[in-house]
Amino acid sequence: MQFIAAPSPNFDARPPATPIDILLLHYTGMETGAAAIARLCDPDARVSSHYTVDEDGTVYAHVSEDRRAWHAGASYWAGARDINARSVGIEIVNPGHEFGYRSFPDAQIESVIALGLEIVARHSIPPARVLGHSDVAPARKTDPGELFPWGTLSLAGIGLWPQTRKARLTVDFEDGLRAFGYGLKPDMDVPTATVIEAFQRHWRPARMDGAADTECEAILAALLNELDYQ
Ligand SMILES: [Zn+2]
Repeated sequence: MQFIAAPSPNFDARPPATPIDILLLHYTGMETGAAAIARLCDPDARVSSHYTVDEDGTVYAHVSEDRRAWHAGASYWAGARDINARSVGIEIVNPGHEFGYRSFPDAQIESVIALGLEIVARHSIPPARVLGHSDVAPARKTDPGELFPWGTLSLAGIGLWPQTRKARLTVDFEDGLRAFGYGLKPDMDVPTATVIEAFQRHWRPARMDGAADTECEAILAALLNELDYQ
């Protein structure tokens, strides 16, 4: 994988005995890629990621994967709260919902796939732990958003995208969300509808109304089935 080095001072040591087992995807949410990269490298901003992928597919490397980059903020997944400690973070250039959210160009997604395949192989990251920022921080974040092509990534070998929408959910929907990893009350102080909307943003973006319907139940059941195989 070809990178352009754009080192950021915004990192620290990963805590001992913590596996790297999450790949966390973001959008930059700024008007230009250059502005986003400048911020990720600004010591006063105190934010970073391991990589940024620009819209033309150029990959910038900011922080070594063996260091903790600062991209997740207050977050939760499957009982863990320091998501930075156990993740590799990729920022994907897109203006985001604030500045004109738009689809991700093919060249950009091709680079995300090439980079992501190397990362999940290097750290043996399970497909069920390839996540968006909105999955781990649903009350604060909506990135990489409903236009992100999770299905394309899954076909390329990164992350899950259930093929069946007919699985039967045998647990309560909220308990199923918890079992998959989402943080709900009492673990996280966030309205349940907000978490369901984050679930929909990732897995069923055609309708994001914060209400679990039968299609959501089938998707969650399929995801939980996949978990059992990992
Ligand atoms: Zn983010």
